[in-house]
Amino acid sequence: MSKQISAIRGMNDLYGEQAAAFEYLVESAQAVLQQYGYESIRLPIVEKTQLFARSIGEVTDIVEKEMYTFDDRNGDSLTLRPEGTAGCVRAVIQNGLAYNQIQKLFYTGPMFRYERPQKGRYRQFHQFGVEVFGLATPDIDAELIVLSARLWEKLCLENLELQINSLGSAQARADYRDILVVYFNEHKDRLDEDSLRRLDSNPLRILDTKNPDMKELVENAPKLIDHLDDESIQHFENVKGYLDDAGIDYVVNPNLVRGLDYYNRTVFEWVTTELGAQGTVCAGGRYDGLVEQIGGKATPAVGFAMGIERLMALLMDKDLVPAGHNSPDIYVVLVGDKVQRPGMVLAEMLRDSTSRFKVQMNCGGGSFKSQFKKADKSGAQFAIILGDEEVEQKSVSVKFLRQAQEQQTVSWDNLVEFIEQHAG
Ligand code: ATP
Ligand code: MG
Repeated sequence: MSKQISAIRGMNDLYGEQAAAFEYLVESAQAVLQQYGYESIRLPIVEKTQLFARSIGEVTDIVEKEMYTFDDRNGDSLTLRPEGTAGCVRAVIQNGLAYNQIQKLFYTGPMFRYERPQKGRYRQFHQFGVEVFGLATPDIDAELIVLSARLWEKLCLENLELQINSLGSAQARADYRDILVVYFNEHKDRLDEDSLRRLDSNPLRILDTKNPDMKELVENAPKLIDHLDDESIQHFENVKGYLDDAGIDYVVNPNLVRGLDYYNRTVFEWVTTELGAQGTVCAGGRYDGLVEQIGGKATPAVGFAMGIERLMALLMDKDLVPAGHNSPDIYVVLVGDKVQRPGMVLAEMLRDSTSRFKVQMNCGGGSFKSQFKKADKSGAQFAIILGDEEVEQKSVSVKFLRQAQEQQTVSWDNLVEFIEQHAG
């Protein structure tokens, strides 16, 4: 036997319950987005490295040390996408979808970051992302938050805390940056190595530190929210007003700056305390400068991304994935010498007459007992048993697997109607 080859660290196979939770989550999110009139967009997983460097920012964790970058056979530098916004902006510009138009888009798929794998943090993970182009007004910032709240409700997820902040205009941020540099320079001895480096290149990111030793220093730092421009203050007040009307609670977190450089004005995160350190399940904000920054005509934009693995963990911990999301309704048991081919015909007939029920046919033979065990394990409501005698009479025995009811003989002609009448 040859030596086994294992998957890459931090890149997981999702199967069974996890795969069911994954699909349930993505289907639920899609349904909510469609309810709000958003459209799907499907994007490449690989882009030119430069796209991410220019959009996410050269001095961010992602670009500095987390990207999977390689030269392709032509010698071009390519990168596995670490997030979805940059590629979406690129696509919208390239296909002429941004200028003088409104686009409301969603996508889902794998993202790649070379991070230290731990609970809720993987090297291949999945996001469900939403991006809106062409709207500068606060109604759309609020709509994104409101629709994410609707998704939590649909999923029965309670106790997610909404944190919001405003990063203001580019000018306000530049002025604040100077104030912050003065403050941190006064306390240089208390900065860790990462923060010292950021002091010159990207001082706002110091506020995003996860180092507990710097917590107090960061908490006492001057707040961006006290240095915002008037228009951004007004914008932020309006966003809060919409949230108040929608009955959505929020906490203003003045240190919420996000790990990517392209944000301005509204930023937000949905956070849970129930997953340990990796508590942010959804994060986003406004990025009005990005389209122009990567070569398009100036177009306001706002978006967010949900971390599918973290939401999956929450759903599974709380047992919120509906049972039987992937299990069949009907399991066809075939016992006899001449039942295999009629069995397939019958199963196909059932699938033809109704798409409401999932029909699984026993393949590979086996004793009545072993087939019955499989039927029970499948989670199906009904077992339909076909033996040689039933084939001759064009009937089946229907056994109720989840209800206390007598087994019954039903003719093929009446089978669909019978199942429909007795299905829970
Ligand atoms: P964090 O602060 O947790 O590292 P981030 O600010 O890097 O998150 P974003 O780039 O905003 O995250 O991505 C949006 C969401 O994607 C996060 O809130 C999180 O739920 C999820 N996410 C990000 N990185 C990972 C990862 N390595 N593994 C699993 N999920 C992730
Ligand atoms: Mg991160």
